[in-house]
Amino acid sequence: MLGLVADVAVVTNTQIAGMIGNGLSGTMAFGAGTALNKPLQQVYQDAVDYAILQVRSGTTDYWDAMRTATKTLSDNGLKVISYDNIDKRAYHRRLDSSVLNAFRSGMGMLSAAQNERLREQIGGDGYEINVHGGCAEDHLYIQGKQYSLNEYEKLNNGLKRKIGTLNCNHRAYPIILGLSPPTYTESQLIEIIKQECTTKDFEGRAYTPYQAEQRQREFELALRREKDRANAFKASGDKKSAERTAKAKTTSIRQKYLEFSDAVGLSEKKNCAAVSGYTRGINIK
Ligand SMILES: [Zn+2]
Repeated sequence: MLGLVADVAVVTNTQIAGMIGNGLSGTMAFGAGTALNKPLQQVYQDAVDYAILQVRSGTTDYWDAMRTATKTLSDNGLKVISYDNIDKRAYHRRLDSSVLNAFRSGMGMLSAAQNERLREQIGGDGYEINVHGGCAEDHLYIQGKQYSLNEYEKLNNGLKRKIGTLNCNHRAYPIILGLSPPTYTESQLIEIIKQECTTKDFEGRAYTPYQAEQRQREFELALRREKDRANAFKASGDKKSAERTAKAKTTSIRQKYLEFSDAVGLSEKKNCAAVSGYTRGINIK
């Protein structure tokens, strides 16, 4: 167990540092009133590393680790992460969205490193990419397929979005070519592609399963924004605005979110719309 944790720590410290240092080069974190003595970028990185370690070692679950990381950073004054050098202009992203993104990418990189190690241990000479529902178009035709090591490396290097990065939920599992049977047959994979290309309508727009999931994330982001506003009004004692924001806008967005989810056959993701400190009934004494 100690060995596993030690291994995990090595991977997170080097690979996640690389991810934040290179992939998001120039990442700067703005915080207000913080009394931290470490550079904020390091604090951010440490919090994400710690969340990943906790999940990988089985200490806590995904959402608990995420909530703790976001709350720790938020309590230390970090509210927004600002990225520059991307398309030559700065942009800002909410703290919870940034943590979630960095966390997912870190988990993906860690899985890749662990699968690579596992492959060496079993003497594997290839990889099979797993299949997941709501697959984006760029990975739709490669999921479920088996590749030799060379083929996989070539394929992954040629992908704009590499496996397990930038919100990709795929993983490449080690196989022994010719011995490991593929999880899905060719005809099953064709059926899966058909399903992923089948659309469902909502208010005159057609959504593939992937597009529907993206639209859900937009609804959840809108909900988190409104809940933040409600919290801010509440903190300032502005009961009227808090009620208007919390009870009217949040409720109407959630109503639309539920209608949409129902129409496209997805369940509500309560964790994705949660904001620390928000309660539906705002009571200001
Ligand atoms: Zn993917």
